[in-house]
Amino acid sequence: MRPLARKLVKVANQLKVGIPENIVVGSHVWVGDPELVWVDGLILNINGAEAEIETSNGKKVVSNLSKLHPKDMDAPTVGVDDMTKLAYLHEPGVLHNLETRFKINEIYTYTGNILIAMNPFQSLPELYDTNVMKRYKGAAVGDLSPHVFAIAEAAYRAMITEVKSNSILVSGESGAGKTETTKMLMRYLAYLGGRTASEGRSVEQQVLESNPVLEAFGNAKTVRNDNSSRFGKFVEIQFDNRGRISGAAIRTYLLERSRVCQISDPERNYHVFYLLCASPPEEKEKYKLGDPRSFHYLNRSNCFELAGVNAAQEYLSTKRAMDIVGISQEEQDAIFRVIAAILHLGNVKFAKAEETDSAVLEDEQSKFHLDTTAELLMCDSNVLEAALRERMMITPEEVIKRSLDPLGATVSRDGLAKTLYSRLFDWLVQKINFSIGQDPDSKCLIGVLDIYGFESFQTNSFEQFCINFTNEKLQQHFNQHVFKMEQEEYTKEGINWSYLEFVDNQDVLDLIEKKPCGIIALLDEACMFPKSTHETFSERLYQTFKDRKRFIKPKLTRSDFIVVHYAGDVQYQSEQFLDKNKDYVVPEHQDMLSASKCSFVSGLFPPLSEDAAKSSKFSSIGSRFKLQLQQLMDTLNMTEPHYIRCVKPNSVLKACVFDNINVIQQLRSGGVLEAVRIKCAGFPTHWTFQDFLTRLGILAPEIVRGNFDEKDSCKKILEKVGLTGYQIGETKVFLRAGQMAELDARRTCL
Ligand code: ATP
Ligand code: MG
Repeated sequence: MRPLARKLVKVANQLKVGIPENIVVGSHVWVGDPELVWVDGLILNINGAEAEIETSNGKKVVSNLSKLHPKDMDAPTVGVDDMTKLAYLHEPGVLHNLETRFKINEIYTYTGNILIAMNPFQSLPELYDTNVMKRYKGAAVGDLSPHVFAIAEAAYRAMITEVKSNSILVSGESGAGKTETTKMLMRYLAYLGGRTASEGRSVEQQVLESNPVLEAFGNAKTVRNDNSSRFGKFVEIQFDNRGRISGAAIRTYLLERSRVCQISDPERNYHVFYLLCASPPEEKEKYKLGDPRSFHYLNRSNCFELAGVNAAQEYLSTKRAMDIVGISQEEQDAIFRVIAAILHLGNVKFAKAEETDSAVLEDEQSKFHLDTTAELLMCDSNVLEAALRERMMITPEEVIKRSLDPLGATVSRDGLAKTLYSRLFDWLVQKINFSIGQDPDSKCLIGVLDIYGFESFQTNSFEQFCINFTNEKLQQHFNQHVFKMEQEEYTKEGINWSYLEFVDNQDVLDLIEKKPCGIIALLDEACMFPKSTHETFSERLYQTFKDRKRFIKPKLTRSDFIVVHYAGDVQYQSEQFLDKNKDYVVPEHQDMLSASKCSFVSGLFPPLSEDAAKSSKFSSIGSRFKLQLQQLMDTLNMTEPHYIRCVKPNSVLKACVFDNINVIQQLRSGGVLEAVRIKCAGFPTHWTFQDFLTRLGILAPEIVRGNFDEKDSCKKILEKVGLTGYQIGETKVFLRAGQMAELDARRTCL
């Protein structure tokens, strides 16, 4: 695919849909609106290039003709289940169609092969029950209404018939429904490829139960979503030659580590902390836990409960899921001890010693929590205290012990908590993979990707940078695929596709990942020089990229930088980039934990080899992430992809509310409109001869009458009306942007 992409013409991002010449007084149009994005209206007057419009919400506005889009007055009142069936394919048409369907609880709509899934924010059990699964089994895409099951079915059938791996890429912003969609896909695949229940703890059951385990440890309540996944996930489901699930592998990406010790209202820490605080009394006793309000890592926010969730029950069901994925009782005990230890660790506070700046434990309470942490981790309490308060400095001459100040000791404490938690999470993933097992003989797999969507906040740090880098990569993959599909359709129909233009984001990817001078490489370079600061790093970026059109140095800041992403500009604050890029475990922490009497804890911190211990080479999170991402792309490139774009209809998380601004932004950044643009650049309207004649035969009844050759009739009608640039394929008419509107205008003039 890549060499092909390279050959293709790059065009500016804004491919405009052709301006219909047929907009006249009395035409129904869509006009831009500051609140609704697009509103429909009627043209009252035209003066030169300006039109006066009365909108359906009762306003009179003036707009340039080139900014208007024709409204299809013949569009079905229930919308169309595939955007490509829209007579006029343009942004307002797409938006209106989604809204029309959403209002009648039709949450799924295709755009060609892409499934758009609107989050209903209400339970729709009748949409997903076993009978529905039965109906979709064996059905071709398009035979039944759009659905996640149809996509899973298509992936499964393609895998069986073509003996080729498939993947389903689920994307969307936080709270859009990716994880729910992913679970639905996995449930359907387990239904298709599962064994009978009598076979005991089956692979597919383990695959399904890995979800609640990973959610307990990797999900948390955020402003955007009560159950937000704080990591990316790619699940590879392997099938044997009879199409039955025979193994699986889960890969996770970039768990948000900072959440363990840093939350603010109304967000929460990872679910598992609250679940453990709600465990039965004897367990609470064992882990020395009590009210979540008494723990510093939890009480920095006032939110402790989740609406509609019973933490005590959830704790038990998480344990049951842990049983199913093969985590033993001893392991579960050790896991929960580590979780409890992190909570106690967070309550260890430091104060300044009387005569020096050195940190000492603040009070008896802190001593109690320190001892409890050590007990739970099965480490020596004195060693733990020293590991938190002191650092060894190794100089060529001697080893010096230096005391940290209270702030330094607190940073050290939080660092330890984050390291413990992320190692625990990695362990869980590894364990689940190990117990589900891989099928070495599997020839085919279906990969399901549930990964964070594009993010642009008030402040954007290293995490947003990595997330947006991921989205650039996926966007390129998506564009190439959409382009290829479109091209295949043209080839099949014998159409000249040199019109088709390709929008590429390779330049942003080069800016980020190219060696030796991309942002990641420069960040690594900065991390290797002890004297670097975020300011010297930013200065280096400004120098290196001053002529790049995808990079902007914002005015009024000395260290921010802007990347012009495909989905919009994002201003990054570089303050913590260097720290966050360093994957570093303090040697004192490492030594203490690897000496733990609990084999589980020491196993999380295997002793470093001598070389690794001596090596001052730092390990770069950015570069490792880049490598992981490349591996993911390599896997995806070997599969036939299917795309699901999840859309959050509003940011108040309510049922039945459709907020145009929100939706449009997501369609833009999710690449749906990009796909529409790619279509518009070629021939956005592909109509079968029959559909074309039904709608437009009236333009030349004398041609249609008695002519049984539909292709010929279409050709003659188009010749008669004098359009140019269209093409006639084997089974369809291919019209350029705006031409359908032009034909309709002639029809209404009759
Ligand atoms: P994040 O990126 O934060 O992990 P996400 O895209 O994975 O977000 P989900 O957790 O899947 O979002 O969905 C958020 C919430 O929306 C769910 O907890 C559920 O309440 C609701 N929801 C999503 N999809 C559906 C659906 N198909 N039917 C009913 N409710 C849904
Ligand atoms: Mg999620």
